Amino acid sequence: MIYFDNSATTFVSEGVRNRIQELTADEFSANPGALHKLGLKAFEIYDGIRKDTASLLGAKPEEIFFTSCATESANTAIKGYMSRNKRAGNAVISTRTEHKATLECLDYLAKAGYEIRYVKVGPDGKPLIESLEEELGKGSVALACFTLVNNETGSVLPFESIRKTIKAVSPETCIYLDCVQALGKMQVNMSSLGADMCSFSGHKIHSIKGNGVLYVRKGVRIDPLILGGGQQDNMRSGTQSPVLAGAFLEALKEVSEGIEEARVKVAEINSYLRRELAARDALILSPEDALPYVLNVSFKGFESETMLHCLEIYDIYVSTVSACSAKQKKVSYVLLEMGTDRKIAANAVRLSFSRNNTMAEAEEFIRRVDEIYEQFLIK
Ligand code: PLP
Repeated sequence: MIYFDNSATTFVSEGVRNRIQELTADEFSANPGALHKLGLKAFEIYDGIRKDTASLLGAKPEEIFFTSCATESANTAIKGYMSRNKRAGNAVISTRTEHKATLECLDYLAKAGYEIRYVKVGPDGKPLIESLEEELGKGSVALACFTLVNNETGSVLPFESIRKTIKAVSPETCIYLDCVQALGKMQVNMSSLGADMCSFSGHKIHSIKGNGVLYVRKGVRIDPLILGGGQQDNMRSGTQSPVLAGAFLEALKEVSEGIEEARVKVAEINSYLRRELAARDALILSPEDALPYVLNVSFKGFESETMLHCLEIYDIYVSTVSACSAKQKKVSYVLLEMGTDRKIAANAVRLSFSRNNTMAEAEEFIRRVDEIYEQFLIK
C-alpha cells in the first residue's frame, strides 16, 4: 500500500498506540475533577500533559485548551472571539481559500449580521498585501483569520508580513491562525509566531482522531463554545481526557523531534515527483515554494476522481479536493480562487506525505501512473 493522503489524516504511530494503552490503565481513569486521590492522580497526569504540550508549542499552560478536533478549535476561536468582543468591531477579514472549518464559521457570522471581508489571493495562494491593506483600511476589523499552510496546495502564508500589515493598519485586530497543516512540518512556536489564537489537530500528526488543541494568548478573552461543568478554566467544559490529551502530546513529541529529518526526506520525494510528473505532461498546481508535504497535480485526460480510483486499483491512496468536501464532488474552491482554470482544477489530485513515506513508494507511484496512462487513457 502507498498512502499519499496524509493531509486528510495520518496513521497512528506506534508510540501513540502505546501511550494510549498506558493512559487507559485504571490508575489514570478516574474523573480528573473528582476529589478523591484517584481523581487527583488523573488530574495530575492531565495537568502535566497540558504543561508539556504548552512547552512544546512555546505557550503557557493556561493558554492551551484541549478540544475534540481543529474544527472545534476554529469554532471556539472565531465565534467565541466575536461573541465576547462586540465592541472590537463588526468586520472579520479572511480569504476564500480557508478550510471549511473557518469558512462555515464566517458564514455563520455573516448570517448573524457581521461583515466578512475576503482578501484576494494570488496564483500562489498567498493573500495579496494590497488587498489586505484595502480591506483593513475600511476599518472596524475585530478579527483576521488565516491559515499557515493550505491543506490543498501546501502554500505557506507569509505570516510575518501579514501580521505586520495588520498591526500597522489595525493594531487592535485579533489574529486567528489555522496551524493544522503546519504543525510538525515547520517550526510553529506560539511565543515567536505572534498570532493571538491558533488551532491544531491531533490526527494530522499521527495521533488518533478526537483530539485537537486551541491556543489562546493570555489576555485574549473569548466566550466558550461548550458550556457545562467549567472544566479547562471554563473555556471548554466536559470531563478532561488524559488519554486524548496524552495521545496528542505523544504525537507532538514525535513530530517535533523528527521535524528536520522528515522534512529532508519528504522534500526529496516531492521534488522527484514534481520532476517526473511534469515530464509526463501533468501540471503541478502547488506553488514552487509550497511546503513539500503537499503536492497538488492535475493529470491530463483524467478527472480527479477517475485518477483517484485508478490509483486505488494499485493500492495507492490520494485525494481529490480536501476530504471534508470530496463527497460533494465539487471542483476545488481553493484552486479556483487561485485563478486555476476550471478544467485543470477538475483534474487535480492531492498527494500528501508523511515521515513514513519513502522514495521507493514515489518511484512505484510513477510506474503506476505510466501504467494507468497506457491502460485507461481514452485516446
Ligand atoms: N484546518 C485545516 C487546514 C485542515 O486541513 C483540517 C482538516 O482537514 C482542519 C482544519 C480540520 O481539522 P479536524 O479534522 O481536526 O477538525
